[in-house]
Amino acid sequence: MRNLHILVVEDEPSNSEIAKVILMGQGYKVTCVENGQEALRLCIDEGQVFDAILMDILMPVMDGIEATRRLRAHAKTQDLAIICLSAKASGADHAAGIEAGCDSYVRKPYKRKDLLMALSEILLRKGVIDEPLL
Ligand SMILES: [Mg+2]
Repeated sequence: MRNLHILVVEDEPSNSEIAKVILMGQGYKVTCVENGQEALRLCIDEGQVFDAILMDILMPVMDGIEATRRLRAHAKTQDLAIICLSAKASGADHAAGIEAGCDSYVRKPYKRKDLLMALSEILLRKGVIDEPLL
């Protein structure tokens, strides 16, 4: 399988580090940015291509809901796999993420397997990979 490139959008460095360790442990390439505006800059302004985004919800400058909405509104990124990650446990938060266009939702703190299963499911569904990641 080709090397997946995952964009982690997360304002808390310790959370980025956890995601990075898990993803790099699978051999994936990982890029981290700290807010939604940075994600838009890479994906839309610079046209960088990622296989999936792990998107935190609560972030300064631009949150994950707004960033997801804008990515979905843009031709370059409308079909990109986006998984929302949030510590907020409410159903309303989950609904807001899905409403904005996230493909799925993982609640923090998560186990390695939870993250990889969510990633696998969405990448299979989008045809980015043709066999499960784990
Ligand atoms: Mg946050």
